[in-house]
Amino acid sequence: MSLMVKQIPCLSDNYGYLLHDPVSGETVSIDSPDANAILTALEEENWHLTQIWNTHHHWDHAGGNAELVKKTGCIIIAPAGERDMIPGADRYVHEGDEVMLGDYNARVLETTGHTRGHICYVMDEQKKAFVGDTVFSMGCGRLFEGSAAQMWNSLSKLMALPDETLIYCAHEYTADNARFALTIEPENQDLLARVDAVKALRAKDRPTVPMSLGLEKRTNPFLRPDSPAIRHRLKAESADDEQVFAMIRALKDKF
Ligand code: ZN
Ligand code: FE
Repeated sequence: MSLMVKQIPCLSDNYGYLLHDPVSGETVSIDSPDANAILTALEEENWHLTQIWNTHHHWDHAGGNAELVKKTGCIIIAPAGERDMIPGADRYVHEGDEVMLGDYNARVLETTGHTRGHICYVMDEQKKAFVGDTVFSMGCGRLFEGSAAQMWNSLSKLMALPDETLIYCAHEYTADNARFALTIEPENQDLLARVDAVKALRAKDRPTVPMSLGLEKRTNPFLRPDSPAIRHRLKAESADDEQVFAMIRALKDKF
């Protein structure tokens, strides 16, 4: 009996995730985008919520915390860098800290940029990363509280994971991101093929998430500032990766 993951589409374009360990009976909710949707999913599976692992303080990630604690008595683990924005958590975690779901462990990565204390939860053995609003399918989080330099550093940490790692992001933004990606690197054959696959999935209302890190590295323009084609298009042949990333992020903000 191994780790189970239930994906919960909720709000307009969010994904909640429940992780369940059948051995210990523990269940974690990655963030709390929509308490009602999460409670319904728990009921469907007959799982009892024991923990919430927050990635950052935005309402579509931590807004359901209080309601879920009230209904289930679960504990909350939250980023140390957002202690004041997510008050009342049971534990605040930093880079390198370990959190447990039964015998499964996840490692905390600090991935600032979208918010000033954003974290990801990486399950190395299971090759899964729960990344909140850091990286999206062919996209990346907006820079609300951090700099392009911070976000590039955060993305670089995620890019160091094995290519087979499944990336579980918190929004279904893929179709929009694909339209932007095509303006940045239209000659990328992997990107063209992926855009077709995404269209087919969305036409059937199917999720395009999770996705493998390897596929992201081949198709996500935000992970490709070293691409000669992108550098040529942006006239940034001599810039460094962080500068090219910042240019791509600025273009997406205006897209
Ligand atoms: Zn957010
Ligand atoms: Fe969000």
